[in-house]
Amino acid sequence: MKDFIIIGAGQAGLSMAYHLTQLKKEYIILDANSETGAPWLKRWDSLKLFTPTEFNHLPGMDFPNEKGYYPDKYEVAAYLKSYVEKFNIPITFNQKITGLKKVDDFFILKSESETFKAKNVVVATGPFHKPFTPPCHTKISKDLIQIHSEHYKNPEQLQEGDTLVVGAGDSGVQILDEISKTNRNVYFSGDTNITSIPQEILGKTLWWWFKKIGFLSVSKFSYIGKKLSKGGQPIIGTDVKSLLKKQNVICVGRTLDANDTELHFEEGNYKNIKNIVWATGFKPNFEWIEGVTLNDYKYPKNYRGISNLKGLYFLGLPWLFTRGSATLGGVKKDTKFLSNYIEKLEEEPAYTKIILKKQFA
Ligand SMILES: Cc1cc2nc3c(=O)[nH]c(=O)nc-3n(C[C@H](O)[C@H](O)[C@H](O)COP(=O)(O)OP(=O)(O)OC[C@H]3O[C@@H](n4cnc5c(N)ncnc54)[C@H](O)[C@@H]3O)c2cc1C
Repeated sequence: MKDFIIIGAGQAGLSMAYHLTQLKKEYIILDANSETGAPWLKRWDSLKLFTPTEFNHLPGMDFPNEKGYYPDKYEVAAYLKSYVEKFNIPITFNQKITGLKKVDDFFILKSESETFKAKNVVVATGPFHKPFTPPCHTKISKDLIQIHSEHYKNPEQLQEGDTLVVGAGDSGVQILDEISKTNRNVYFSGDTNITSIPQEILGKTLWWWFKKIGFLSVSKFSYIGKKLSKGGQPIIGTDVKSLLKKQNVICVGRTLDANDTELHFEEGNYKNIKNIVWATGFKPNFEWIEGVTLNDYKYPKNYRGISNLKGLYFLGLPWLFTRGSATLGGVKKDTKFLSNYIEKLEEEPAYTKIILKKQFA
């Protein structure tokens, strides 16, 4: 029986581990992957962070590059690995938790091979779980290569010929940009009316401005936070207007349907496409947790990570509290809040009543 089990050894789980060590709690981390940094290493090869070094620090150990530098995915994985080494964080890999329930005063966690018990559990399994691909993908001929952005690495995975990128988020736009630099036509399916913001404005990084205007500390419970958290996110760092104007980029509107090799879009039907990259996002998966209440978007209801089940906490969810909650540099505010809460829970139980009066969302 552990005091705490953290599920997930990404930045959220590791930050929480740092704080639990400070509180002298006994804990372990369980992770489905086989090494620290795996979610980053699995992302596409040319990925660079949109946050510069100074916005990537986890608690207790700064990101090692110089200010204003945008690290690549290998540097992030290396940073997380050295974080684990520095703080001697105990992680058991290859343990995907598929069931979690509360029995009396403790939690039972089940993986394929083992059962674990803990008085408290912190779920830090990341913001992205099940890749979503529109249902019409099953009607598409096997002669076309289809890859979800989760598995996209580089244009070498594609066969020769015209390529379609579906999805107007950061991933879609960055992948479109990369493929448009190869010698082929690239079709773009998605909203072309996307706001994009450069990485630097008047000699300062975008994140410097975000901090300056207070954007990073706007909570989702505030009037502005409610609006921002429900609206679309602008694209950071890619000049979308110029990209969509390139000669070999053809905008086709939304993807409507498919029939063998023919793809149907708002702006026409095409039979010449040989590859599709679906940058169509992810759906959350928390259904393996018994007794937790989910909101309309299938994320657990919580107040700053505190769930409706005593002793069960969440971290790293999009807009858990602010825009920064699901970022490298932002998660430490949430883990600090939770560790203060856990500490006070023992010292001043009345404090928890104040917290629990807050609105769950
Ligand atoms: C393409 C892309 C670019 C991004 N760029 C930036 C950026 O520039 N700057 C920035 O700050 N943020 C960025 N982010 C956002 C965010 O920092 C990352 O998504 C980050 O990986 C989230 O960290 P996490 O610890 O919450 O989750 P993850 O890194 O996803 O880690 C979760 C861990 O939980 C484990 N796990 C999941 N389910 C289970 C289970 N059932 N049982 C056991 N283990 C489990 C996984 O194996 C994984 O190791 C980016 C995200 C994406 C997708």
